Amino acid sequence: MMREEKIDQSVKNIRTNLELVNKRIVEAAEKAGRDPDEVKLIAVTKMMPVEVIKAAIKAGIRCFGENYAEQAAEKIEAVGTEMDLEWHMIGHIQSRKAETVSRYFDMVHSLDRMKIARYLDRYAKEQNRVIPLLIEVNVSGEASKYGWDASDESSWPNLADQFRQICAYHNIEVRGLMTMPPLFDDPEDSRPVYRKLRRLQQFLKEVVSESDWKELSIGTSFDYPVAVEEGATMVRIGTEIFGSRPAV
Ligand SMILES: *Cc1c(COP(=O)(O)O)cnc(C)c1O
Repeated sequence: MMREEKIDQSVKNIRTNLELVNKRIVEAAEKAGRDPDEVKLIAVTKMMPVEVIKAAIKAGIRCFGENYAEQAAEKIEAVGTEMDLEWHMIGHIQSRKAETVSRYFDMVHSLDRMKIARYLDRYAKEQNRVIPLLIEVNVSGEASKYGWDASDESSWPNLADQFRQICAYHNIEVRGLMTMPPLFDDPEDSRPVYRKLRRLQQFLKEVVSESDWKELSIGTSFDYPVAVEEGATMVRIGTEIFGSRPAV
């Protein structure tokens, strides 16, 4: 009985938080003259137990983001496949986890190096599937970030050549770009980072026609209204929906 009550409470909390997040997404989209339906909310459940995911499903969430392949695989198994859920890989992928990623995830946001493209393509082929993915770029030039360094615009033609190679694989499909801005104090500081990402997107649309480069996965709890104003088609939100994560 206690347990049921606790789950009900957590479903209620998630639902309340979710309503607020959705409201802010709609407001930001309207402010920018965008259709809010163009923005997909990905609920980030890294470090959260399966119970939280189950409560989120009860609260109506169907689309989840995870960072650690092995932990995610366990949770995905535990939740089961009866539900029509979408799982998005948003964290750095170690080579030896590429196969797990290819088996459990519907989409990859964090393709950050050529080797992983090769691995994902190979495993996807073995499984007879095509994995949609986003290329992670680092537009701010901050050293601690993953992804292709796109901070220097004069390097963009070279990046385009590399991305064309990724597009040439048959069992992965490039849909767009993802980035993580540096840790700022003010969400407004993310804006120039996202604008630069969008300029890169425009550039790639012009010179790499093998993809439509439609998707932009930008925005976390910290700055998603700014990201939506700047063209996000996917926002990745954890804390604002589930509260702070348990300490490692
Ligand atoms: C953890 C994480 C998020 C979500 O962050 P919150 O601040 O909890 O919203 C989004 N994207 C990536 C890549 C993450 O690792």
